[in-house]
This record gives sequence, C-alpha cells and structure tokens, in this order.
Amino acid sequence: MISINEAFNILQDNLPEPALETVDLSQAWRRYLAEDILAPEPSPRYTNSAMDGYAVRWQDVMGTTPDQPTLLTTVGESKAGVPFAGTVQACQAVRISTGAVLPEGADTVIRVEDTREERDRVAVLSVRGRGQDIRRRGEEFQTGELLLNRGIQLRTRQLALLAAVGIHQVPVYATPRIRLLVTGTELVSSNSESIKPYQIRDSNRIMLTSACRDAGGLVLGCDHVGDDLERTVAALEQAAAEEPDCLLCSGGVSVGRHDHVKRAADLAGFQELFWRIRQKPGKPLFAARRKNTLLFGLPGNPVSAFMCFVHYVRPVIAHLQGRSMAHPSITARAPEEIRNTGKRTNFLRVRLKYEPGEIPQIVEMNKQGSHMLSSITHADGYIGLEPGEILSPGSLKEVFLL
Ligand code: AMP
Ligand code: MG
Repeated sequence: MISINEAFNILQDNLPEPALETVDLSQAWRRYLAEDILAPEPSPRYTNSAMDGYAVRWQDVMGTTPDQPTLLTTVGESKAGVPFAGTVQACQAVRISTGAVLPEGADTVIRVEDTREERDRVAVLSVRGRGQDIRRRGEEFQTGELLLNRGIQLRTRQLALLAAVGIHQVPVYATPRIRLLVTGTELVSSNSESIKPYQIRDSNRIMLTSACRDAGGLVLGCDHVGDDLERTVAALEQAAAEEPDCLLCSGGVSVGRHDHVKRAADLAGFQELFWRIRQKPGKPLFAARRKNTLLFGLPGNPVSAFMCFVHYVRPVIAHLQGRSMAHPSITARAPEEIRNTGKRTNFLRVRLKYEPGEIPQIVEMNKQGSHMLSSITHADGYIGLEPGEILSPGSLKEVFLL
C-alpha cells in the first residue's frame, strides 16, 4: 500500500494532456480560457460624452460664474449612434447624449443640469474644468493591453468584456470527456419498481455523473456490468476505444473473488499506476493508464467512491481544464480532541460551524461508515488525519471542502 501523497504524486506524473478548442462566445460560459486575451481595440473606441448635455469649447465657457452665465448658439445634435457631422465653432454648442461621439472642435461637455435652454440658444450656468464629462478614447485600455489571463473561468463579466471588444471566438480548454462503468451483480437501477431483498440500488451512477458535471466534465455515458470478467473486459475495451480523458469504474476493485476490474483493465491494455492506498475510506482505489486515458477503479461503497473522486479524480478533471490540482480548503478549529488510532490516513467527514468574526469550527459527525451516504450528504468537508495524529482541543486544521 502507498500513502495518499505517493498516490497523488503518481497521478501528477501521469496526467492526460489537456486539449484546447475554440468556441463561440455563446458557448463559452463557465469554460476556462486557454490563452491570454489582449485588447484588439482601445476602450472606449471613440471619445464620447459621459453625460446628457452640450458639447462646447472650453475657451467659450471658462469665464462662466453663477452671476454671469454664458450664452451659446445650439447648432445641432450628437446622438448615440448618430454623430454630429460638423465642427463646433466659437460660441456654439451641440446637444449631446451619453455615449455619443464628441463633435470635432468641442473639448468639454456641460451636463444638462448646468444649463438652461432658450430656443436655439443655451445658457451655460456653471462649469468645472476643461475636458469635464468626457470619456477619452483608450482611457480604459489601449490596443494590445492584457484583458484576461489564461486560466480564468469565463463567467458573466468576462463574457461581457469579450463581447464589448468584438471577440466572438475564444480559445478554451476542451471539456474533459469521461466514461463511467458501474460494476456489481447486486445492483438494480435506482428507479426500478421491484427490488429483491438481496439487491442494492445503484446510487453511484447518479452520484458520479453529477460529480463529473460539477467538476466541469462531460459524461459520455454510463454502462453497467455484472461481476463477470469477460463482460468487464469487453466494457472497458469499448469505453477505452472512445479515448475518453477519464474512465471511472465503480466497484470490483477489492480482493474479493468477484472483483474483476483490475484484471479486466490489464486485459484491456491498461497499465497499472497504483492499487490500494493507506487511507480510510477508499483503500482499494486503483488507477491505470492507457494512452491518454486515465482509468480509476473506485471502490463500490458509495462514500469510498465519493471520497476517492473528490481527492483524486476531481483534481485531474481540474487539470484538464487548465486549473490547479490543489484541493480547495480552509483552516478550521477543532473544539474537542480528535485522534486517529488507526493505521491509515483517515478522511474524516466534518461539518463546519461559522460564527461571525471567528475561525470556523469543526463539528465531528459520528456516523462515518463507508456505506453511510449521510456522512457525505451532510458534510461540508473532510480532514486528513494521519495515523497517530491527535488534534488537541482548540488546534487548527486544514479542512478540505467537498
Ligand atoms: P465492491 O467495491 O464492488 O465490493 O462494493 C462494495 C459495496 O458497495 C457493496 O456493498 C456494494 O453493494 C456497494 N456498491 C457497489 N456498487 C454500488 C453502486 N453503484 N451503488 C451503491 N452501492 C454500491
Ligand atoms: Mg462489487
């Protein structure tokens, strides 16, 4: 058996290569950017007005005081989408809307609140300074400036920025492609009407499918085979032929006479990377590789399968999207002593209690059985407690978030 760190290192040395693709902006939501994006044009693209008001020449209005308004002749209008064609001459003003092009000749905008309209003239009542209320071309960024860093997730605001500068095709990491294979003769579909007393409802299929989706992966499909070597080999060969990034198997990796996944993986051309980790739950985890496909043989016990997914598979799916493989975590305080008297790293599921202004508190959950799904359903995270490790009351510990 190897340690959790050894297992993780082996995975890091055998990662599938992330694939890149270019997608339309409308398909880019939640995807991860594969290249830095530089501004293809300046923002704003043209100098325009920040206010509804009048475009004027500073030298005409600079002497304005509350007692001495300046009278200008209104000679036209610059609307959003319809610029003023002429040039602003001495003692002239052009009506202007927010975002409209600043006309030639003008260098200042007087907001409408600081004016009084008088038929074809306008009285400027107060001024602040040359260039007031103008948005200058390139003041936000110039052509060639870095807009978005490679690796960022494209969410609402990033997509808006790309649209604003006219970028419609974006280079992103390809969505990781994942195949699932659920093994176990005792399993029946979770929506089956009839279940015999000795059968088990398949909860791993929906659990792993949604866990893959949560992690940003695409599940190509999920097959079920009974505990039968030949059928398992055939199913693995078929799944591998599609060359998915990951092939996740559930069950059949322990030392039982009817556990066939390891042998079947070997027969289907996979090279073993590791089998069995000094951890609880999830000891039987098996990993193998064929070409660019990583196979994980997850234990069948739902909690074990999930913990192995979170600690080993999810980081691989993150890597495939150009993201860090680090486990998201926060520091929390143990209110009471927690110890691991066993010989394996214990992935203890815990809840977190938040009080304003305080470090979150670890709340132990007493039902930790690897067959007890409620131990993950209601948990916020887990701690990795090493053999012999004792957390004294009040001590701090890193909690990995589920
Ligand atoms: P295995 O790892 O195949 O020995 O399975 C260990 C335990 O997990 C057995 O009690 C199985 O019935 C149970 N189990 C295996 N696969 C599933 C599944 N897909 N859904 C729910 N329980 C499962
Ligand atoms: Mg089984």
